[in-house]
Amino acid sequence: AKEKGKNNCQFYTREMNASIEEKLVLLEGLRNALDDGQFRLVYQPKVELHSGRVFGVEALVRWEHPEQGVIGPDRFIPLAEESGMIVALGEWILRSACAQNKAWQDAGLPPLCVSVNVSPRQFEEARLVERVRQALDDSGLAPQWLELEVTEGVIMRDLQQAVAKMAQVRAMGVSLSIDDFGTGYSSLSALKSFPISTLKIDKSFVRDLGRSSGDEAIASSIIGLAHRLRLRVIAEGVETEQQRSFLRENGCDEMQGYLFSRPLPPQQLAALLSAPAMR
Ligand code: C2E
Ligand code: CA
Ligand code: CA
Ligand code: CA
Repeated sequence: AKEKGKNNCQFYTREMNASIEEKLVLLEGLRNALDDGQFRLVYQPKVELHSGRVFGVEALVRWEHPEQGVIGPDRFIPLAEESGMIVALGEWILRSACAQNKAWQDAGLPPLCVSVNVSPRQFEEARLVERVRQALDDSGLAPQWLELEVTEGVIMRDLQQAVAKMAQVRAMGVSLSIDDFGTGYSSLSALKSFPISTLKIDKSFVRDLGRSSGDEAIASSIIGLAHRLRLRVIAEGVETEQQRSFLRENGCDEMQGYLFSRPLPPQQLAALLSAPAMR
């Protein structure tokens, strides 16, 4: 038994080394990935619940790693944050999303709002507002077709400064939404001072709609709260008809999830939106 315990111990150590090594390998690769053009964006439709109309898309980044294939953002965004790479990567994401949205408009697609995720370090960076303005200027995209998604955690780190920055973004005509709402710790009293237009219900509360009365209570409370603050509310991670019905019956405005569509490469998104049923 003692021998076995020792082996177990070695096993865990090897596993741990492997994950640290994996991090280092990815971190090393991240440095060149941007210059080598290994990142791409996919776009997930956002749908109005009462009409079924697609009014926007969320840009989500993917890394096409030369050896490892496609790597999801959960594996490299935290590394990019830690290493500071997120500022350059985030700028590329912002510029690409604006340029893509303008290209769709120029191609005659019904105009969409593109949402871009902004990570903590990127949001706190001094030149964020300037970078957003530059991305709009260079792409020719009108500001009302861009939205930034920020998490509660980002805002609560330095409330006053965050609110001031959000106000600058709003003043440009760009919208803001709070991502993963309900998982962070923003105080409800602070919420009323945020110059935002939308709350996004985190998918962890959406998963068990129709099965868990606790999650149903949370989801319907967020919807009620949002509406009383004159905000729109969107649910993410909607996978089933049951979840959609619950949300619609409880007055949620918008939804996003595999039930309607997975995140798609630009051409497939355009094809989906130009299909006759979508117009
Ligand atoms: P998020 O912003 O909360 O994005 C939602 C995630 O849920 C996405 O995962 C999306 O693909 C996934 N999703 C969409 N519909 C469904 C569904 O019906 N069921 C389930 N189970 N999942 C669904 P993804 O693309 O892997 O992104 C993960 C996280 O990585 C994002 O969470 C966001 O925090 C971060 N991220 C993604 N793209 C970017 C980016 O461009 N910049 C920054 N800073 N972060 C990003
Ligand atoms: Ca998001
Ligand atoms: Ca989210
Ligand atoms: Ca998230």
